Amino acid sequence: MEAKVIALANQKGGVTKTTSTVNLGVGLARTGKKVLLVDADPQGSLGISLGISAPDELEVNLATVMAEVIEDKALSLEAGIIHHREGIDLLPANIELSGLEVSLFNVMSREYVLRNCIEPIRGRYDYILIDCMPSLGIMTINALVAADSVVIPSQPSFLSAKGLDLLLKNVARVKRSINPSLEIDGVLLTMVDSRTNNDREIVSELRMGLGQRLRVFDTVIPRSIRAVEATHSGESIFAYDPNGKVAQAYAGLTKEVLDLEGRQKAESRSEWAR
Ligand code: ADP
Ligand code: MG
Repeated sequence: MEAKVIALANQKGGVTKTTSTVNLGVGLARTGKKVLLVDADPQGSLGISLGISAPDELEVNLATVMAEVIEDKALSLEAGIIHHREGIDLLPANIELSGLEVSLFNVMSREYVLRNCIEPIRGRYDYILIDCMPSLGIMTINALVAADSVVIPSQPSFLSAKGLDLLLKNVARVKRSINPSLEIDGVLLTMVDSRTNNDREIVSELRMGLGQRLRVFDTVIPRSIRAVEATHSGESIFAYDPNGKVAQAYAGLTKEVLDLEGRQKAESRSEWAR
């Protein structure tokens, strides 16, 4: 077993990177997959939205483990991983990560630190999801270097051509220079209000416009106060509102992600056979 590592990235904040990391992660775990969620945002919202009330007090966190990689020390990764009651593992982050990000600039191979953190435990999981911070700085580059693929969550109306181009440029640059097998799994449209014509029109325009060069997941995540309430109660949508439309949508996304990996594996097998 070798985990597929997926980075949920978008330099814009508030587009449901964290919510989608939690719910895709728990969705995958509910199908029997072994899942690790990694918080790569100093705001620590991934832990908070899974009920960890004071991430800043965690002695072992992503920043301390990354510091150990930089200093070539033995990794205390094990001690930092939280086994969550919803069946996923979690490597949390906190404000220390912003200090670490600054210090990365003087480090040799600074783009590889997160990849090297994850490497020793990759064999233990089916999926490792990285919740990126809202920037395209060195921490997000670390996530793209560590990842096999990228999922780009966005509200349809926030998906500006400029913002998307910038993100795609960074992905292409990482792919060219460091991580040639990096793929974009697709754009995930979130907080969609299908009752309004406006959102419906934007979604179908995006499918036509982007569909040429990027996959847009068939599943769209509806806008719902339930998703916000779940975040506040420290639970995934599957625990908070299992029969609601948001849980249903994340189950649909989970299935698409599983199918996609099946197809990608089959493609790479047939490439080898050639
Ligand atoms: P990001 O990690 O990209 O900054 P978050 O996952 O933190 O975004 O989501 C931003 C806000 O939107 C949070 O308050 C979250 O509870 C809320 N939210 C997430 N999903 C939905 C949804 N489907 N409908 C409405 N609000 C949502
Ligand atoms: Mg976030």
